[in-house]
Amino acid sequence: VTQLFRWEKRLIARFVATSVAPPLSGMAVILLIREFLDGAMGVEGGLMAWFVALAGAPAAIWLLAGSLLLAYLLGSVANYDNRVCQQRIVKVLELGMMERLIWRLLTLSVPFFDRQSHGDVIQAVRQDVSQMRQAVESAANVLLNGLLTVGLFAAAFWVSPRLSMWAFIGLPLAALPVLLLARRTLERSYLVRQTGYALFDVVLQILRGIRVIKAYRGEGREAAASVVKGRQYFDELIEMVRIRSFSQVVMESIAGFGVVLVVVVGGMSVMSGDLSWAQLTAFLLAVRQLHGPIDNVHRNYVQMKTYGASVERIVTLLDARPQVVDRPGARRLEAPPSRIAFDRVRFSYEGEEEPALAGISFEVRAGETIGIAGASGSGKSTLLNLLVRFYDPVGGRVLFDGVDLREYRLADVYDKVAIVTQEPFLFSATVRENIRCGRRGASDEEVEAAARAAFVHGEILELPSGYDTPIGPGGRGLSGGQTQRINVARAILKNAPILLLDEATSSLDSISESEVQRAIEPLMGNRTTFVVAHRLSTLRRADRILLLEQGRLVAVGSHEQLRAESALYRELWSIQSFAPAC
Ligand code: ADP
Ligand code: MG
Repeated sequence: VTQLFRWEKRLIARFVATSVAPPLSGMAVILLIREFLDGAMGVEGGLMAWFVALAGAPAAIWLLAGSLLLAYLLGSVANYDNRVCQQRIVKVLELGMMERLIWRLLTLSVPFFDRQSHGDVIQAVRQDVSQMRQAVESAANVLLNGLLTVGLFAAAFWVSPRLSMWAFIGLPLAALPVLLLARRTLERSYLVRQTGYALFDVVLQILRGIRVIKAYRGEGREAAASVVKGRQYFDELIEMVRIRSFSQVVMESIAGFGVVLVVVVGGMSVMSGDLSWAQLTAFLLAVRQLHGPIDNVHRNYVQMKTYGASVERIVTLLDARPQVVDRPGARRLEAPPSRIAFDRVRFSYEGEEEPALAGISFEVRAGETIGIAGASGSGKSTLLNLLVRFYDPVGGRVLFDGVDLREYRLADVYDKVAIVTQEPFLFSATVRENIRCGRRGASDEEVEAAARAAFVHGEILELPSGYDTPIGPGGRGLSGGQTQRINVARAILKNAPILLLDEATSSLDSISESEVQRAIEPLMGNRTTFVVAHRLSTLRRADRILLLEQGRLVAVGSHEQLRAESALYRELWSIQSFAPAC
């Protein structure tokens, strides 16, 4: 936060300057009124008398009225400017915070996102940032009204120290319950936040699964689940508002009590002649004026606490550090590795008991095509994840040319691999830019050549603006097969020495599948390729197949060898041969 403000020094200075003016003006107004009343009642000395001596009686009234007006005006103008400043500061803060959050998210490594619900992350970027804005505004208001309170309090004290004591005797008493209630509000606000993003997750899930929900007529069940989450959310919200309102009531009662005390004690003092009517009137005016600021301090303080959960959430997100990082002095990975090896690699996902990979060892030479087979959940994707260092192994090592992968610069490792996964991804950009992400600086011809090689060129030309059609989130929708072939084109353009194909065709219908398959084949060429295929027939061409079972490597060999030797492989194969392609 401090960093963010460094270049906003002038704005901050203006904010502080205009913060002090309203309290001073409030103080001046009270004192001027007392002078005026004193003068009107003929009390000797004072400002009014001085004005009378200066300019005569009628003009003196105008002079005093003028001073009063000036004090009011200056206070109001300063107040106006203060609010404008405040909004500008808050904008800088909010925008800067959002940008930093998004950058932070993008720099975090893959394991972080296993632990987060999407609703939570979205909520952080959208809502928590806005609520942080409100928290900052509330904090500023606590400060401003605090100053105003001090100013008015000083004026009241000036008029009558003794009455001030009576009037404000309740304040320290009021502070205690207010502080206690503020803590409860903060606790509640965590619950509100949590139930809020649970609700959000339900909605996200609905959007993602809308086809399935419809097909299985699951609307009723989903609606019921949302309503349950919604009810929890609103219950928490109501409870929070209740606590907040209650502390308001406590504050107001105590303030009212103060006024009653002043009326009683003040009235008796005037009757006994200890206090002038002017003093009592000015004093009551000060007490009455004080109501607003004190109430504001209290309300904004509670509000600050209410949004505390959001602020803390943002702070923890900003403090999160990627788990997979470069070692200090990490070495460059210049040439593609000629040998890739797993050395007794063990891995389990955070919070999981069962290891996803349990001691896997194998070695691959550059240019080989390696198939990975195994039932679903056997650890195929996990193996690929470790191969490119999306995760670090829990035990053992992944080796490039005999050197631990963790010794290399992460960016160099990522540069060496192209990935096509089950869920193809489109950036929100034009078709051309989407493919060009494979290699920045590639010419338009190279982009088109890649699209041709991926058998998607013709379809791209049929789009409304051809290669310049915006696709991805917010752009035009494409079919699963087209999307996947654009991903393949991107991988072709990247021309990386290591290629990872993780069930690249499994989410497609059989026609799109064979098209994508056709696109992928030239890509495999003489690269080191790891291919996980749900269709075992695509593994026939592999030089070797790694067969996984529950995170263990149970057999290695060519398709023919495994068919001859492994019962498990035969079983997977027979399920495949009879199952319809889907
Ligand atoms: P495959 O790709 O062979 O279907 P995976 O490698 O995706 O299998 O998963 C291996 C095991 O690890 C499975 O038991 C799966 O439930 C678990 N797993 C996969 N991803 C995660 C994750 N992000 N968090 C926790 N467990 C996971
Ligand atoms: Mg998988």
